[in-house]
Amino acid sequence: MDSSATGFRGRIEWAAPALKDLLPDLSRDEQLRLENGGQADGRRHKHKGRQRIIKQDEQLMSMALRTEGERDALLIRRVQHALCHYNARHKGGEFDAVKPLMEARVGFRDQVWFHLNFWARSRSTNKIKRFFAEVHYKPSSDTSKYPRATTPIVEICTIMEDPLSQYRRACAFCPASDNILHPKGCRKFVCGNDKDRFEQRLLRCGTMYIEPPFSCPSKIERQGLPYRSSSSSPSQ
Ligand SMILES: [Zn+2]
Repeated sequence: MDSSATGFRGRIEWAAPALKDLLPDLSRDEQLRLENGGQADGRRHKHKGRQRIIKQDEQLMSMALRTEGERDALLIRRVQHALCHYNARHKGGEFDAVKPLMEARVGFRDQVWFHLNFWARSRSTNKIKRFFAEVHYKPSSDTSKYPRATTPIVEICTIMEDPLSQYRRACAFCPASDNILHPKGCRKFVCGNDKDRFEQRLLRCGTMYIEPPFSCPSKIERQGLPYRSSSSSPSQ
């Protein structure tokens, strides 16, 4: 596993396990969400079953620029920053990163902020839990280097316990379509919370499309698909 992935320009991959290998260690709620295409109640997809969802996404797959591993590599850095923060505060209850799920980014207070969901595995129980994290990056005061170095700041990194249906999928900047579950409580996170949303000035930050998890082709599947070389280079 490429746990040392630090810079994601080019085609670096994060070797997340295959979905079939993760399923036994996921909660029943997570398994149901997968069957329902990411929704707790199945509103998005009337037909159940992961294979059917993949069929529906075949057209998207044919247009994909990234493999599943490349997609995950794009997101894993924020996951690692968040989990490092969590593990430092939960000695004896540490988790290891398994799979980035989704993230949204926004410009706020002159920094880039992220809300993300990811799966991580407990070192003590081996079970996989979903996490929510809010991470932003403070640019270095040294402007002589480009790109400028940044320091990750984790405002919150917390486990989302079952039932997952208790959590909201949107905040002031995360669209519900991204399926990022947010902790309950009006000020559990800083950016886009219910209390401060009308005073916050959130600036749209980039337009990079993040594919839903498990929707990109593997390396083998991409062979034979129309392939366009990617020039995307994530900033974080
Ligand atoms: Zn959000």
